[in-house]
Amino acid sequence: EAITVAELANRMAERVADVVKSLMQSGIMATQNQSIDADTAELIIEEFGHRVTRVSDADVEDVIKTADDKPEDLRPRPPVITIMGHVDHGKTSLLDRIRQANVTAGEAGGITQHIGAYQVQTKGGDILTFLDTPGHAAFTSMRSRGAQVTDIVVLVVAADDAVMPQTVEAINHAKAAGVPMIVAINKIDKPSANPTKVRTDLLQHEVVVEQMSGDVQDVEVSAHTGQGLDELLEAIALQAELLELKANPDRAAEGAVIEAQLDVGRGPVATVLVQNGTLKQGDIFVVGEQYGKVRALINDKGERVAEAGPSVPVEVLGLNGTPEAGDVLNVTSTEAQAREIAEYRAHAAKEKRAAAGAATTLEQLMKKAKDDENVSELPVVVKADVQGSAEAIVQALEKVGNDEVRVRVIHYGVGAITETDIGLAEASGCPVIGFNVRANAPARNSANQKGVEIRYYSVIYDLVDDVRAAASGLLSNEI
Ligand code: GDP
Repeated sequence: EAITVAELANRMAERVADVVKSLMQSGIMATQNQSIDADTAELIIEEFGHRVTRVSDADVEDVIKTADDKPEDLRPRPPVITIMGHVDHGKTSLLDRIRQANVTAGEAGGITQHIGAYQVQTKGGDILTFLDTPGHAAFTSMRSRGAQVTDIVVLVVAADDAVMPQTVEAINHAKAAGVPMIVAINKIDKPSANPTKVRTDLLQHEVVVEQMSGDVQDVEVSAHTGQGLDELLEAIALQAELLELKANPDRAAEGAVIEAQLDVGRGPVATVLVQNGTLKQGDIFVVGEQYGKVRALINDKGERVAEAGPSVPVEVLGLNGTPEAGDVLNVTSTEAQAREIAEYRAHAAKEKRAAAGAATTLEQLMKKAKDDENVSELPVVVKADVQGSAEAIVQALEKVGNDEVRVRVIHYGVGAITETDIGLAEASGCPVIGFNVRANAPARNSANQKGVEIRYYSVIYDLVDDVRAAASGLLSNEI
């Protein structure tokens, strides 16, 4: 770990020239922009009569961990909804339509601001927060960064196309995250619409809708005509009520970054979804590896607001750098704290990248399973060349296991291994198994970056054997 002379002086609130002089006296020639190592820094700090504090994981936890909220401080908060489904089934159209329907005539001439999320009000008066990035790629990458923001998934299925591969992926992502689903059967205006086929198709994936006597709400809608949209919003509000979502608005804010970019005029800008507490102008915060002080908050209608409470998305200005989607924001009491945590994280992340080991190999999972008595499942993602082999593999794998460990196929599909598969595997901390298929280039890169293990097989027996060996903790290192 290193620190520049200028930064060291700044943190001790001493003059740079004095620090340079002191270093010189110890025989170290360094200018203000040069870095010195942590041990040297420590000597200098002591020389100036300051106390050395090196930030650790535990310190970070302490600062950002807030006391548990008392039940009497909790207030209902709006649900946060992500729309998922197969490409072209109408996710974007539905999001746009819901949003438009809610822009009242007088409101800023009907102009809306795309900040990555928006809020609408149902006819019944409930507020709903929609994430504006449809699809499970964003959902999964957020989850893998530790931000679970979605309370309810709306699964869009086109009535003229029924269940398609990405529909199945979406179902598996929602299930893996433990988020309840509502099915929106879209394009009901089309003459070729066959909503019954959608419902029966879904049965095969263990999604039993209400019309089929199940408990997953299903609503027929048309993003084009607007038919069924009010019913969909009411269905969401009803589901939200069952979830009894609550937060404490009267405390320091905690939130998640929905999107962030470097804006030419405004500097780094992040859209943050407040998850607990209230974020206010002037608050000092750390967000991922960045920190800042709230200079301005802008809501989804492009208006400046003084504060944002639970489930409210706002653009935050006043960051020192651009965070990443999924980063968690915490308000801290001092700027020094915020900066130290941000720097500590940046450093830790660098070390982790350097260590670049596969974090989710079968061996490591097994080790984890052994160390941690709670891990009783060995999750895997399976991709195969044809449906028949995919199903055969899943069946065989689900029989594998002993008293301590079971194999759980969290997703399987046909075709090349894609970035989405890697994202899901990363979020669930598991390997991807390819049977007679390869990973495409983006997926390979992403797997390398994220340390997700990909294993290729062409003989089912070998595949099942390896997984069984892993599950019995007998996997030899050379496999
Ligand atoms: P996404 O890929 O899931 O975001 O789908 P889009 O929203 O881009 O929609 C894909 C296509 O389906 C577009 O051409 C839309 O105009 C069309 N579409 C979406 N919703 C409806 C609908 O309710 N009825 C009809 N007839 N077409 C729709």
